[in-house]
Amino acid sequence: MSHPIVKDEYFQQWQELLDLFAEFMEVPAVLLTNVDDMNQLFVMIKNRSAANPYQINKKFKLPGSDRYCEHVICQQQTLFVANANETPEWKDKYDAQLGMINYLGVPVTWPNGDAFGTLCVLDTKTHYYSELQLKMMVQLRNIFEAHLDILEKNLELEDVAKTLEYLANTDDLTGIWNRRAFIAQAETELQRTSRYNRTLCLPMFDIDNFKRINDLHGHNTGDEAIKLFTECIMSSKRSYDIFGRIGGEEFAMILPETDIASALTLAERMRECVENLTLPLVSGQQVTFTVSIGLTEYREQDDGIFALLSRADRKLYEAKHKGKNCVIA
Ligand code: GH3
Ligand code: MG
Ligand code: MG
Repeated sequence: MSHPIVKDEYFQQWQELLDLFAEFMEVPAVLLTNVDDMNQLFVMIKNRSAANPYQINKKFKLPGSDRYCEHVICQQQTLFVANANETPEWKDKYDAQLGMINYLGVPVTWPNGDAFGTLCVLDTKTHYYSELQLKMMVQLRNIFEAHLDILEKNLELEDVAKTLEYLANTDDLTGIWNRRAFIAQAETELQRTSRYNRTLCLPMFDIDNFKRINDLHGHNTGDEAIKLFTECIMSSKRSYDIFGRIGGEEFAMILPETDIASALTLAERMRECVENLTLPLVSGQQVTFTVSIGLTEYREQDDGIFALLSRADRKLYEAKHKGKNCVIA
């Protein structure tokens, strides 16, 4: 499982805490270590003291780092070494060679129990810690873990917000923009068009005799037809054209940087693409259908997207009256 990056804002606080803690524990070195997703152990933050010999961010592959901290992480247990020189297991190991023969470390874990790393203190001489110092160490570890919990919850909230935003803007059936999102984006594009004196066109689509598809073949087939129609239009539009479902079998598109002549060509191509679609049924039958398109362009006096939408709607009405399966601008 991936965990959030520990953000900069915590670093400063954690640094201050480690500096104070080193003084409180009366040791030359305090470390907050972390294991990255490649299972490498490194010192994330150390107390700011010339007597602390550790290097920030130097990576040690686990297992086999020969470090006290690896033991704490692997065992997920507190480790105390009073004097490594008197402990065969730790004599001559990495930390002891740095002069750090005394060690006290506790595991730091992510909320789900994954190892984050350790909080530890090290000394160059035999050192026993008081009950109060031990309690303080556990409390400090708890603060770090509480911060990790907040980081994870914030990440979860960001994910939820993204999902909600997607759901709020997307049409369930087709996966394209829903009415709300289409209108919002169209409005933005229209403002840009008007501010920079650009061209923009809006075709509106309504599938012809759609009710008959539902009546003859059932609602599911109707749904499939809508999906097929959407795929067809999506594959014939340009990447920057904005396409949305604004009603049951009604759709609209924003064609930025497009004059009416080019828009007519584009719309005609889309109409033709739909005309050539076939939706196979399990019965062996094939459903075909057509679309009518009403097209309008941005005019200087237009004060919002609804001005264009209602003009395109009137053109669409004309297209239906003219016999459907055509584009009227
Ligand atoms: P016209 O050629 O004049 O556009 O006629 P039409 O039958 O396409 O138009 P009408 O507005 O009479 O009917 C549209 C139908 O589309 C009615 C509605 O039940 C159906 N419909 C709307 N949304 C959906 C949907 O999501 N799925 C399915 N299967 N049908 C839908
Ligand atoms: Mg309709
Ligand atoms: Mg229709």
